[in-house]
Amino acid sequence: MSRAPKSPPPPPPERVVERQANPSDSEAMEQSLRPLQLDDFIGQQAARQNLRIFIQAAKARGEALDHVLLVGPPGLGKTTLAQIVAKELGVSFRATSGPVIARAGDLAALLTNLQPHDVLFIDEIHRLSPAVEEILYPAMEDYALDLIIGEGPAARSVRIDLPPFTLVAATTRSGLITRPLRERFGIPLRLEFYTPEELCLIVERGARVLGFRLTADGAAEIARRARGTPRVAGRLLRRVRDFAAVEGAPAVDRPVADRALARLDVDQAGLDAMDRRYLATIAENYGGGPVGVETLAAALSEQRDVLEEVIEPYLIQQGLLQRTPRGRMLTGGGFRHLGLAVPRGFTGELLPDLFDADDPAEGA
Ligand code: ADP
Repeated sequence: MSRAPKSPPPPPPERVVERQANPSDSEAMEQSLRPLQLDDFIGQQAARQNLRIFIQAAKARGEALDHVLLVGPPGLGKTTLAQIVAKELGVSFRATSGPVIARAGDLAALLTNLQPHDVLFIDEIHRLSPAVEEILYPAMEDYALDLIIGEGPAARSVRIDLPPFTLVAATTRSGLITRPLRERFGIPLRLEFYTPEELCLIVERGARVLGFRLTADGAAEIARRARGTPRVAGRLLRRVRDFAAVEGAPAVDRPVADRALARLDVDQAGLDAMDRRYLATIAENYGGGPVGVETLAAALSEQRDVLEEVIEPYLIQQGLLQRTPRGRMLTGGGFRHLGLAVPRGFTGELLPDLFDADDPAEGA
């Protein structure tokens, strides 16, 4: 279904809104922008209200909070919310991530070291190995560990009791979580992209924390172009501040923000060079699609995961792209964003959004 690319792709440009920490953006800086209480957490109203009620109820009963699953694209505040949950419960917070827990024993060590009602945060839970996941089931359900000690005929199973605890897990790909695991979370919450108004409050708060003057129209400009994502907003805010400092501008207003964002290759709709390259590849090399995600990953020299988790969700939310059973397709809006005419006879496919279908057969 995919035609051969017409020309070799250009080398990947540096991505301004990369999700990994940029060495110049220290972890300390990101920490300083992190809200510490539910009241300071802006947006995600539904998730926030639910959490507030469940936290209050758990505290009133003197029980551990039920396990929480946070689903959503990177940078929307999953880690931040997990930390806030621990803080609001008044318990310790321990964090790890799916790929880091290599063996069942690693998880057992973490679990047996918890104090009653503590929060254990596992990021990227969809990347947990099956053997480790098995250990998690009784731990979540019965606060117990079933461990096999020894090997061969001498092997025996021992059960170790655990303190009641709360697992807060985060994933960018709920479709990749097995059903038994998913069903063990009493509180599943989906985080959505933020509105420009919410991001505006976030960047205004960020400017106060970082201590520089940001005008209302400057904040609105950064918010509008932050890909619906607080992490991107924070990063753009810091870069824009750098540009303002070098220009000697007394405050970041709209023209300063606009010049800085243009220099960062963030366009008027908030798409960066990689987003545009992704759209242009489908438009120019594959006639607008459908094209399989593996083909696109090869054409763009990007990992499939990065396309699916970082780039596509926002383009889909903006109505520039759709996922269909036959592959990725641009919408009319996708062509127009690139300044291209929608090809004659190109209709797109009006099919349900398959965002979370994660059908392995589909990526051919
Ligand atoms: P995730 O775990 O979903 O990838 P994080 O929780 O690490 O995202 O958040 C990324 C950055 O965005 C952090 O610096 C955090 O301070 C900021 N952030 C996220 N959500 C909010 C929010 N609702 N209000 C203010 N800042 C936020």
